[in-house]
Amino acid sequence: MRTSGHGSKIGVVGAGAVGTAVAYNAQIRGLAREIALYDVNRTKARAEVRDMAHGSQFTNCRVIGGDDPDVLENADVVVVTAGAAQKPGETRLDLVAKNVAIMRSVLPQVLAQSPDAVIVLVTNPCDVLTAVAVEEFGVSPARLFSSGCVLDSSRLRWLVAEIARVAPTSVHAMVVGEHGDSEFPLWSSSRIGNIPITEWTEKGTRLFSPEILADMTHGVVRAAYTVIEGKGATNYAIGLAAGRIIQAVLRDEHVVLPVSRVQTARELDPSLEALEGVAISLPTIVGAGGAERVVSPPLVPEEREMLLASGAALREVIDSVRR
Ligand code: NAD
Repeated sequence: MRTSGHGSKIGVVGAGAVGTAVAYNAQIRGLAREIALYDVNRTKARAEVRDMAHGSQFTNCRVIGGDDPDVLENADVVVVTAGAAQKPGETRLDLVAKNVAIMRSVLPQVLAQSPDAVIVLVTNPCDVLTAVAVEEFGVSPARLFSSGCVLDSSRLRWLVAEIARVAPTSVHAMVVGEHGDSEFPLWSSSRIGNIPITEWTEKGTRLFSPEILADMTHGVVRAAYTVIEGKGATNYAIGLAAGRIIQAVLRDEHVVLPVSRVQTARELDPSLEALEGVAISLPTIVGAGGAERVVSPPLVPEEREMLLASGAALREVIDSVRR
């Protein structure tokens, strides 16, 4: 039963910077009754579990885990973060061979322990891993998807909110495409409140010029690189973003999020049919069934071109790792 957040179980694979942030976020937000953390590094997994469990008095959630995949048994949602992280200067696509191999070893364990779970891949390059995993393990695209541009969209909304001095929740803007260098914000449909972003004024002056929009796009695309240069990893914001997805699934929220799902011709606007078979972020309804339905957004011609180019770049990488 996935619709009762308090009676459910979350599995997290990988107890590194990201996996622990996902688990800790889920723990303090009380997203489930039980959280299981699994990592091949036994010492690390046990220490992280113990550290979280020591806070049990202040939460309503049991934390278990270790280096035995059995801990993932009967999870409702499993978030996969196992894998190598980007090193300074390395792109997400550079990680592909290492992390595809890890994904191929981890997913059979996850599927054996939790055959009905919704699986959210966070390990990068998350779009590529998702497309390969859906193809190789025959799981439905709705049930196995990636966090995609959920984090990137939060980064964008924060940047816009800082300039406009409004709450990020009042910024309605989404980053779509690859979770990586070819991603871009859908500026044509971005709004603050119900005002198109380019018409937002302060003291009679429009704040969001084409130059500012271009700077923000660059800022979002480079965001991870900047954080990694300073602290070696990004983890807190992805922990929150994954928590948002987990909550949407466990509470069957039907919230629209830019997760990355393998695209099907049935759901795509005919002008985007070239994206079929590629996992790429688009607005998607997320609920108990996972990434339930993709919603084709309105696009100006330039955005359509960028989306198709992003899809083509991803397809090339997916083809290169296909068995
Ligand atoms: P990390 O090195 O701190 O942790 C990775 C963990 O995975 C390690 O503890 C390692 O022991 C474990 N691991 C490796 N192989 C395993 C296996 N076969 N089974 C179980 N566990 C295994 O790395 P991190 O900083 O936590 O990053 C993890 C991944 O998340 C990276 O690929 C990174 O690029 C990605 N990431 C994605 C996003 C996103 O928005 N999608 C954001 C941040 C990071």
